[in-house]
Amino acid sequence: MDPNHAILFEPVQIGPVTAPNRFYQTPHATGFGWQRPQSGAALRGVKAEGGWGVVCTEYCSIHPSSDDSPYAFLTLWEDADIAPLAATAEAGHAHGALAGIELWHGGFHASNRMTRVPGVGPQVQPSMFHLPATTRAMDKADIRAFRGWQRDAAKRAKQAGFDIVYVYAGHDYLPFQFLSRRSNTRGDSYGGTLENRARLLREMLEDTREAVGDTCAVAIRLAVDELHGPAGICAEDEGRDVVAMLAEIPDLWDVNVAGALGNDSKSARFSAEGYQEDYIRFVKTLTSKPVVSVGRFTSPERMVQQIRNGVQDFIGAARPSIADPFLPLKIREGRADEIRECIGCNICRAANNEAVGLRCTQNPTMGEEWRRGWHPERIAAYPRRETALVVGAGPAGLEAALTLARRGLEVTLAEARRSLGGRISFESTLPGLATWGRVRDWRMTMLAKLPNVQIYRESRMAAGDIEDLAPDHLILATGSQWRRDGVGVVGMEARLFERSLTPDDIFAGAKVTGPVLIYDDEHYFMGGALAEKLARDGHRVRLVTPYPQASGWAIYTDEQGFIQERLMGLGVEIIPQHMLAAQGTDTATITDTMGQSRDVPCETLILVTGRLPDDGLWQALHTRPGTARVGDCLAPSSIADAVYSAHRHARLLGEADTPPRRERPPHKGT
Ligand code: ADP
Ligand code: SF4
Repeated sequence: MDPNHAILFEPVQIGPVTAPNRFYQTPHATGFGWQRPQSGAALRGVKAEGGWGVVCTEYCSIHPSSDDSPYAFLTLWEDADIAPLAATAEAGHAHGALAGIELWHGGFHASNRMTRVPGVGPQVQPSMFHLPATTRAMDKADIRAFRGWQRDAAKRAKQAGFDIVYVYAGHDYLPFQFLSRRSNTRGDSYGGTLENRARLLREMLEDTREAVGDTCAVAIRLAVDELHGPAGICAEDEGRDVVAMLAEIPDLWDVNVAGALGNDSKSARFSAEGYQEDYIRFVKTLTSKPVVSVGRFTSPERMVQQIRNGVQDFIGAARPSIADPFLPLKIREGRADEIRECIGCNICRAANNEAVGLRCTQNPTMGEEWRRGWHPERIAAYPRRETALVVGAGPAGLEAALTLARRGLEVTLAEARRSLGGRISFESTLPGLATWGRVRDWRMTMLAKLPNVQIYRESRMAAGDIEDLAPDHLILATGSQWRRDGVGVVGMEARLFERSLTPDDIFAGAKVTGPVLIYDDEHYFMGGALAEKLARDGHRVRLVTPYPQASGWAIYTDEQGFIQERLMGLGVEIIPQHMLAAQGTDTATITDTMGQSRDVPCETLILVTGRLPDDGLWQALHTRPGTARVGDCLAPSSIADAVYSAHRHARLLGEADTPPRRERPPHKGT
């Protein structure tokens, strides 16, 4: 280990328990929740195995009045919930980690779609996500009952074996709703002054300590700034006062910037590594208790600075631990160059927002620990010494080559261009997307360490070349091209726009002149990112889309609001709910949902609608035994899907492709 990094491996006491090192996996969603406890336990176990000293669960509801269905959350509503969660605590302990559990009540954030219990909160308030439901105001009896739920859940958490039990006042949830004057207009002893608004939080901390504090650490998760200025909890004002008021009551402060979750887990496009530091730095000056926060830390030097500069006592991480569960071990073993750095794309957030199991662009094994038995660092050797030719070195080709080489095949990787990385080489030049280059860089670093890989650049392969090489396995990862026919998500009819450009043309250096119209019927990042780039380059840009907003799918990555705000700030004119009808000499005709057409100035028309697989080689060779296609060449999609598709093919090579295991409820005969 680099001696400079030794500080990261010091044990830290948290109340009655001691973390073996400073690597703290803060609570994060997995998409598994109470319905898939074995998947959750296996995922957390891999983190502990990878060296995280503290491994926390996702949000765990304390009562049926806090139900986030259909999103996956844990429950400690009754004793029957204890055993499934005990598996998660055990999975952490098996590798020497402390296990933390994030007890949760969502207040007006909870939808209660499954339990159908009316929501509770500080005041009568429209429910945030389950309209037109209304959350009812808690009276004193409700508050007494609520405190009992927290106590009971804490006791069950202790029985399940957890070492750290949370009081969760972040991300707009119930104790935070009491805290913020934006959501608390009560006139009783739980409203008004900050002391009154913090009363419930203080009581929850004291109750939790009384219930389990003899053996468990009591952690508070607090949003010290909800980004509404002095109207709400704000680091310079009431955020600071709350920390001062409760400073020594919890055993650990887990602090962040919130309001909505999207502010806490901002994508790389909208935040740099360590971006929360300015907000949370003050916390350590007000408490003697250990402090943890997050900031997408992947650089050991940056981590060491956090500790030495007294910003926090731990390196808190959700996304970096998803992208590389073995990050701590790699630092300890002096292999920091092997860290698979999070790229900040928020595809993991999208999984949660779509209510499915966790997925990650960089780490294709994430979420597959139990259902497929995949491990991020271990892979079965291929039983025979055979050869594989991978054509195309985009994310899919690089991943296929690496995984096959890790399995012991003799791998040749051929790429038509001089540079490796495929689409990433272009996409990472867009504003805010430089970190996406890490998908390429990590794979190139790892490939360079393997003796059984040959990489050939500037080697466009034709069918005949491949026949000559006669590899045992041929993996075509030749990617995709942006469509020129205007077919997109909404507009399914192919049309000819003769003088239009695609993102491929822009990346190839096509000249952009006059007013620009980007027609986005793809709805992920490309349309908005190109609009941003061209506006920054000084062009007058209009973004026309059939959706009601720009980059509509980016809602799932928690980016849509930020994208739209940025485009508006740059003067991009967003024209929603319009289809592209025709292209004139210096205009384009667009049509609204009522069928009304109008012309807008347009000298350069860029179509961002969809991609077609670059599958000429596949068409020529698919009958050849041992031939497969992966990534965008198979089905154009996200980088995450390209990497996954390649990894899956390479990992399953020679094995039966059976459906993944599913956690089924007990039934007759089990
Ligand atoms: P994916 O996301 O599936 O990895 P990309 O488009 O990023 O797809 O990458 C595909 C790569 O394949 C590109 O770098 C492209 O230059 C390369 N490629 C396409 N056709 C050939 C070919 N015939 N021979 C070698 N490389 C090719
Ligand atoms: Fe990081 Fe993207 Fe993986 Fe999430 S999906 S952990 S943001 S690389």
